[in-house]
Amino acid sequence: MNILVINCGSSSLKYQLIDMDNEKELAKGLAERIGIEGSRVKHEVIGKEKVIIEKPMPDHKRALEIVIESLADDEIGAIKSMDEIGAVGHRVVHGGENFTKSEIIDDKVMEGIRECIDIAPLHNPPNIMGIEACQEIMPNVPMVAVFDTAFHQTMPKVSYLYALPYELYEKYGIRRYGAHGTSHNYVSHRAAEILGKDLKDLKMVTCHLGNGSSVSAVKDGKCLDTSMGFTPLEGLIMGTRTGDIDPAIVPFVMQKENLNPEEMSDLLNKKSGVLGISGISSDFRDVENEAEKGNERAQLALDMFKYSVLKYVGAYTAAMNGVDAIVFTAGVGENSPEDREYVCDALEYLGVKIDSEKNKVRGKETIISTDDSKVKVLVVPTNEELMIARDTLNLVK
Ligand code: AMP
Repeated sequence: MNILVINCGSSSLKYQLIDMDNEKELAKGLAERIGIEGSRVKHEVIGKEKVIIEKPMPDHKRALEIVIESLADDEIGAIKSMDEIGAVGHRVVHGGENFTKSEIIDDKVMEGIRECIDIAPLHNPPNIMGIEACQEIMPNVPMVAVFDTAFHQTMPKVSYLYALPYELYEKYGIRRYGAHGTSHNYVSHRAAEILGKDLKDLKMVTCHLGNGSSVSAVKDGKCLDTSMGFTPLEGLIMGTRTGDIDPAIVPFVMQKENLNPEEMSDLLNKKSGVLGISGISSDFRDVENEAEKGNERAQLALDMFKYSVLKYVGAYTAAMNGVDAIVFTAGVGENSPEDREYVCDALEYLGVKIDSEKNKVRGKETIISTDDSKVKVLVVPTNEELMIARDTLNLVK
C-alpha cells in the first residue's frame, strides 16, 4: 500500500509518498508560500530530476490538488492515479492530554485536535487545514493523525507537572507536553533493533539535536521525561530559543526594555539561543565556521549548547538510575562528531567510551561506542515520515 504523509505549516505543505510494501520512499516535496505571492511546489520523484512547479495556491486545498496532480502525472509523477494512495498520515503537532497514540481521523478526533488549538495556536490550525483539504479531495481514503506529543504522554506526574499552583494545570492544562515525540519514538525503537535488544529492557537517552533540540529519557520502552515543556521553548539551548532560563528574567527584561508579551515571546523564541549568544546565525554550520576563525562568541555559543546537552543526559541518567544507550539524531546530532565526543567523554565515569574513528560518521546508522563500552552510543538518522506511515498502515490495515 502507498501512504501519503502530510505535514502542514501555516503557509507550507510537506509531503512524502511511501510504498509500505517495502518502506521505500517514492516521492517527496514541499509546497511553499501558500496564500502568498510566488507560491510553488518543489517536487521530487526518487531517481528523477527535481522539478519546481510555479502556480498560484490561494489555500492548502489548491496546494494539495497540485501535489496530487504532480504525483499522478505521466512525466513527473510516481503513480498512475490518486487511487494508488491507500491512506494518508497527518503529522499533528499537539494532541494535549486527549491523545496518547495515533488515531484514525473521524469527527471525534477532529474535535479533540480543535480542543488543543488553545495550547498550540500556531501549529494545530494549519494541521487541521491540511486534514480538511485531504478530506475534500480524497473523501474515501482513510486518514490517520500522528501526534508529536503522544509519545510523551507516558510521563508520570512528577515529570510533567510544574510547581505552579495546581489549579493552573486543572484550569488551563499547563504542564509539560514535550515535542519531537515521533522522532524520539522512531530512534529509540530503531536503536533497540540495531542493538538486537527489546526496547522494554533498555534505559535510553535520546538526543534530537537540530535547529530545535530536545532530549528524552526512555525507560522500559516508555518516555519517562523530556526536555521540552508546555511549549518547545524549554530545555536545551537551541538555534534561536533560550531553553531553560530563570523565569524571573522575563518580567525583568519586559520592564527594562519596555516589551509587551508578544515582543518578549519573540525575543525568547526567535532572537536567543545560539543566534543570540553568537550574534551570527542560528545555523550551526555558520557558527562553526566563525568559531574556527577565532570568533569567541561563536565558540561560546557552541560550548553552551553542548554543555546543555551534557547536563540533560546526566540528569536523565540519574532519573533512570542508569543508562544502557545514548542515541544522537537530527541535523546536529547526526552530523557533529565534536558534540557527540564532548558529551560522551564527559560521561566516561558512567562507562561511556566512544571509538573516535567510528564517531567520524555523518548521517548514517552507526554504533559509535567501543565494543567494551558499558553504555552503547548510536547515531540513528531520524525518519519521522516513515514513523507516521507505519502508524498509519497499522491503523488502517
Ligand atoms: P534540523 O533541525 O534537524 O534540520 O537541523 C538543522 C541544524 O543542523 C542546522 O543548524 C544545521 O547547521 C545543522 N547541521 C546540518 N548538517 C550539519 C553538518 N554537516 N554539520 C554540522 N551541523 C549540521
